[in-house]
Amino acid sequence: MITVGLTGGIGSGKSTVAAFFEDLGVPVYHSDARAKILMETDPRLRDALIGLLGPETYREGQLDRAWVASRIFKDKALLEAVNALVHPAVRQDFLHWSEDQDSPYVLQEAAILFENGGYQNMDRMILVTAPETERLKRVVARDGAAEAAVRSRMKHQWPDARKRALADFEIRNDSLPHTRQQVGEIHRELLELSGSAGLSEC
Ligand code: ADP
Repeated sequence: MITVGLTGGIGSGKSTVAAFFEDLGVPVYHSDARAKILMETDPRLRDALIGLLGPETYREGQLDRAWVASRIFKDKALLEAVNALVHPAVRQDFLHWSEDQDSPYVLQEAAILFENGGYQNMDRMILVTAPETERLKRVVARDGAAEAAVRSRMKHQWPDARKRALADFEIRNDSLPHTRQQVGEIHRELLELSGSAGLSEC
């Protein structure tokens, strides 16, 4: 089985692209959603996060994402410390999950697979891109977020040019029909790749 990373900056259209792959029957591991579940259910991770961020991390047992985001996105060291706790837990969880999948390839959708070095564990990488002005507009419309808050999230992510140099495939998410078409083409290539000798045993 081939493992394929699906990444892109905030608002680039990762979730949209992931849904198109799911429409084709490809299993997708949603790192962000799984990370939230692990942060709420893994007792060791929970204790470590409370130790790092304080008891306000959880409100009535639920992760207070807005509060955590407000702390970590203005403090780079804290963001890195949180990532150092969460990413290994997500990696382990992804490996367990992929063992249960019966598919020529699986996708891991994650916002910062290049930035955190996670791409090195994947067989192939897909990068989703869209112009920054479009991404800003889409996230403000999707989340009702303030433009400044979105920009500050973007500052922690690599520019597309740097990610493009490490990606195997790029999906330019301009119009949705064009994006779906690109997904279909990459899907065919990945099926071919997973059937070829050498990688089939990965
Ligand atoms: P990401 O997961 O990368 O943050 P999303 O897939 O959630 O991005 O896309 C951000 C927002 O933009 C969503 O509301 C989505 O429906 C919308 N969107 C995604 N792709 C397009 C597109 N090609 N044209 C118009 N809107 C789009």
